[in-house]
Amino acid sequence: MPRLVPEPYRIKVVEPIRQTTQAERLSLLSAAGFNLFAVRSEDVYIDLLTDSGTGAMSDSQWAGLMVGDEAYAYCRNYFSLKDAISDIFGFRHFLPTHQGRAAEKVLFSAMLKPGDYVPSNTHFDTTHANIEAVGAHPVDLPIRQGLDPTSHFPFKGNMDVDGLLRLIEEVGADRIPLAMLTITNNSGGGQPVSLANVRAVKAVLAPYHIPLFIDACRYAENAYFIRQREAGCSDKTLSQIAAEVFALADGCTMSAKKDGLANMGGFLAMNDDRLFERAGQLLILWEGFLTYGGLAGRDLEAVARGLREALDERYLAHRIGQVSYLAQRLLDAGVPILEPPGGHAVYLDARRFLPHIPQEQLPGQALVVSLYLAGGIRAVEIGSVMFATKNRQTGEWKYPELELVRLAIPRRVYTQTHLDYVADMIIELNARRSDIRGMRFTYEPPFLRHFTARFEFV
Ligand SMILES: *Cc1c(COP(=O)(O)O)cnc(C)c1O
Repeated sequence: MPRLVPEPYRIKVVEPIRQTTQAERLSLLSAAGFNLFAVRSEDVYIDLLTDSGTGAMSDSQWAGLMVGDEAYAYCRNYFSLKDAISDIFGFRHFLPTHQGRAAEKVLFSAMLKPGDYVPSNTHFDTTHANIEAVGAHPVDLPIRQGLDPTSHFPFKGNMDVDGLLRLIEEVGADRIPLAMLTITNNSGGGQPVSLANVRAVKAVLAPYHIPLFIDACRYAENAYFIRQREAGCSDKTLSQIAAEVFALADGCTMSAKKDGLANMGGFLAMNDDRLFERAGQLLILWEGFLTYGGLAGRDLEAVARGLREALDERYLAHRIGQVSYLAQRLLDAGVPILEPPGGHAVYLDARRFLPHIPQEQLPGQALVVSLYLAGGIRAVEIGSVMFATKNRQTGEWKYPELELVRLAIPRRVYTQTHLDYVADMIIELNARRSDIRGMRFTYEPPFLRHFTARFEFV
């Protein structure tokens, strides 16, 4: 068991959470069509659906709300955020947005034309969709180890640099207006990207003058992994590491709902003056004036303070420690998970957890439903419900390689005891896994199926 890093905070305000009985949960589930997205938050005991916007703000962030300046233009909180972004990321310009995907939409609309290509280690789903929305092609180039659920490579989030070079040679640099790196690599399981990989990617792009943008959502968690795992980085501060990473980039997109430690917010940052001007026009059209971009002044202040808090040593040691503690308890009990755990979540491997359920009977969904029934815990299926595709001609289904259930850990929300409860419930469930039955769709919407589908047990 890894040595525990105790909570580097004490609790000033509490939010009661309700425990339901198993009978109540069964009736809530059947009313929800066995889809956890349709269950009320109030009926969930431990909510591990996502770590996005679900964190707890600090007393300083709450105090920051009271100094919100709600003037339309150039409110004081704009300058707090400008200072934080300039100190941490070092970019000359930034535009606030209401969340990460809005920054993506503005960036891609300003930089891409139909038929362009945008390579990445792995694009997050909103990034992928926003690139396609302007008629361009997202290209994922993860390294081989990133696709192997048993590899213990320390930087499984890295980009395949040779693949990047091949893509440039194949389609031509003029068809690649920018490249991206997602840190940590969310779709790849929250795995980190090394400083060496950022350098190598930059070195490939530089001769072609292709700008590098970083999807910076979990920049602080990534900096922590670099310090822990990368040669020559153990003596650096987390701020120094973040500064080195971003000095290699030409800009970034950010969802402040992750390492901004806020419940809402985001931004787009860059060095290029002309891009700033173009993107600023689009921001005014879609989000709001240059200095608030869809956020209240008080929100800007919460993000400014949160960005700095996220680089706190003890906070990160505790947070990443919580994730690895939960993973280790499950591993010790023989529960199959993706290894090693990333920065923000533990992923159960539903195919190995429920080997008796074939993929067409949705083992991931069966596991998510069983977890809620057993303990009022809400997780999310990342498997066939989300990704299986039907061939229009043959009517045949293609199932994804991995059938996962993600347990995302909200920031500063749950205690050690909560995590022990989650581990106990999963270990108990694992002991009686052969009782768990498969599921099938009773309603299957045409796209983004997982949000509104309905199911029943086979
Ligand atoms: C959450 C996330 C986004 C999108 O941010 P939203 O605030 O949800 O719009 C983009 N990239 C990554 C890696 C994310 O985790």
